[in-house]
Amino acid sequence: MGLVVQKYGGSSVADAEGIKRVAKRIVDAKKNGHQVVVVVSAMGDTTDELIDLAGQVSPIPAGREFDMLLTAGERISMALLAMAIKNLGHEAQSFTGSQAGVITDSVHNKARIIDVTPGRIRTALDEGNIAIVAGFQGVSQDKKDITTLGRGGSDTTAVALAAALDAEVCEIYTDVDGVFTADPRVVKKARKIDWISFGDMLELASSGSKVLLHRCVEYARRYNIPIHVRSSFSGLQGTWVSNEPQGDRKVEQAIISGVAHDTSEAKVTVVGVPDKPGEAAAIFRAVADAEINLDMIVQNVSAASTGLTDISFTLPKSEGRKAIDALEKTKERVGFDSLRYDDQIAKISLVGAGMKTNPGVTATFFEALTDAGVNIELISTSEIRISVVTRAEDVNEAVRAVHTAFGLDSDSDEAVVYGGTGR
Ligand code: ASP
Ligand code: MG
Repeated sequence: MGLVVQKYGGSSVADAEGIKRVAKRIVDAKKNGHQVVVVVSAMGDTTDELIDLAGQVSPIPAGREFDMLLTAGERISMALLAMAIKNLGHEAQSFTGSQAGVITDSVHNKARIIDVTPGRIRTALDEGNIAIVAGFQGVSQDKKDITTLGRGGSDTTAVALAAALDAEVCEIYTDVDGVFTADPRVVKKARKIDWISFGDMLELASSGSKVLLHRCVEYARRYNIPIHVRSSFSGLQGTWVSNEPQGDRKVEQAIISGVAHDTSEAKVTVVGVPDKPGEAAAIFRAVADAEINLDMIVQNVSAASTGLTDISFTLPKSEGRKAIDALEKTKERVGFDSLRYDDQIAKISLVGAGMKTNPGVTATFFEALTDAGVNIELISTSEIRISVVTRAEDVNEAVRAVHTAFGLDSDSDEAVVYGGTGR
């Protein structure tokens, strides 16, 4: 039996009871003959509480100290978990990200892992310990400062350690039974997916599915580490995310993997842009220089009589102010009429590699939205995804309608949400 990395999210270790329950599960894996490395998140809403606290002492929490503060959350859970395991008669040692060899760049609050040197973890394992590692944190290569990887970063820690330790699987324990065909908080008849490819999972993650972060899946694909997403509450088989279906689980690639939705974006429309070369370039250069990541971009056909066109794009709501400010500054030079900002939008995406070879998917998607009385404002596609922007108030109904139209509804209400807030 090989080495497994298990990651437990904040809702799985929300209180002392949760920590003891998780400790039992970890000990079971050890008893089954595995070497076990555990990555743990901060208890419950600890990270949010720490962020809140920082805001109360300073309106602009500085990067370095802010990271130092946030990493305290994971230190608490790792130490408690190690104690709970020892109490069950097994040896465990906890390690900070830095001690575990998680080396990052020095971008505070959203550092990237650039190397993992898990020498101390290896030693601890060889001496018969269960190793507990604080998620979501590392140490910067140049300044040796403590860094964090961005919200939800513990999943990435787990996959990175799994890759560095050549684990056979990275198990991500969360508060639902796996990856579902839609958010089970919205669609009661969402179905658990047994296996999904890295490619489809990446599209779901970038389309708003919160069960796994894009960065973590990207990392897993690069190092070919199979991920098993499952619940720490139920013990059921969850969802395997990998290149190929695992072992005896010879499941076929579904035509459609699922429906994702995202209400975190806003839409900017640049109205009355002169239809000549260089205009779009000037607009998007301004947005890029403000370090804003865009999502969908649509340019309308210009009206022949005016020679003017409208350009719309979506971006994270949190970047809205910055984008508008940056564009206002270019108004004279680019010569557009006005800017419109709309944050009451939702994006709904249908994902599945099978749509490449199955005609009619787009038509069915739009028909389902029509039947639900949902108006479409923007459309964008990739090889394995169709996305539309609609009014935010229509989002739940739209997701359910599309889910039903593609035959994804399960016969039972099996989509159980055991706790937490969806992260
Ligand atoms: N505790 C951090 C957060 O809440 C990291 C994580 O949970 O993965 O974002
Ligand atoms: Mg968390």
